[in-house]
Amino acid sequence: MKCIVLLAGGVGAAKFIEGLVNIVDPTQLKIIINTGDDLELFGLKICPDIDIITYTLAELVDKNKGWGYQEETFNCLEILKQYYDQGWFNAGDKDLATHIYRTDLFRQGYNKTEITSKIAEKLKLKAHLIPMCNEEVQTFIETEMGVMHFEEYYIKYQCKPKVKSIEYRGIKNATISEKIPLYLEKAEKIIICPSNPIVSIGTILHIPGMKNILKSAKKKIFAISPIIQGATIKGPADKLMASLDLEVSCVGVAKYYQEFLGNFIIDLKDCEQKEQIEELGIKAYCFDTIMDSLAKKKKLAQFLIDL
Ligand code: GDP
Repeated sequence: MKCIVLLAGGVGAAKFIEGLVNIVDPTQLKIIINTGDDLELFGLKICPDIDIITYTLAELVDKNKGWGYQEETFNCLEILKQYYDQGWFNAGDKDLATHIYRTDLFRQGYNKTEITSKIAEKLKLKAHLIPMCNEEVQTFIETEMGVMHFEEYYIKYQCKPKVKSIEYRGIKNATISEKIPLYLEKAEKIIICPSNPIVSIGTILHIPGMKNILKSAKKKIFAISPIIQGATIKGPADKLMASLDLEVSCVGVAKYYQEFLGNFIIDLKDCEQKEQIEELGIKAYCFDTIMDSLAKKKKLAQFLIDL
């Protein structure tokens, strides 16, 4: 079995994977996706990161935003706002169809792995999308305004409240989805996408047993830094890293992944930090990692595949 395994969050991961599917056979890809952002709103089961990767690979995603459907409308949400105070979550009309279908399948007794595969199959995806686990895990952020779900912190409060701590609620009872250990063992390469290290990749890493499997695969693990020149391109990775007293830089990300990371691609703009990363026992490579066009996404993916 020839395969490449990816650990993925949402928007940052999707950009990289969009490049990758253009240069390798997508049927080889096993994409393990964070489910710590999952939540239930309007009585519907929503999996934000799974949906971002699904819509991107199905070429349905709104490319400007990096999430949700293209040419989306929000009529249903306007009405839902009359009934719920959850209208801060931007669920569009087309997107709601996915949440309805997913919720229906849950009610019929399917688990998250099966449901994700069913949706991927209906949308004719070739890559294999795998939720990190089937159990419910939810990331909560303790802030100066109280404890809130990550999506509430991110979308409703726009990452403004000061972060005190992060909790992966339910993680202790989570078990790595069935075939993941085998895929990790067989993989030619394991790629950690340029995703939020704390609430996208970090959640996956905290599933009991996950880090130990990764430690034994160190040489074939490759990550791309989501932090460039001490800042994120999008999202709160910098704020969350700072709240954990991690240095907000590619070196800080390398230290967070140090136990299992063998190879790290940092941005050209951070090349002066290459040595600091290599002192951690991690091979470092400098490349242009800003994926603002399909050509650049493909170039970065090709660079990583050729390593
Ligand atoms: P989310 O769950 O939708 O926030 O997405 P992810 O966790 O997958 O990704 C968020 C991270 O992706 C942020 O820390 C960004 O800095 C990073 N990111 C987004 N676009 C790019 C890019 O073009 N290049 C790199 N290197 N990182 C990126």
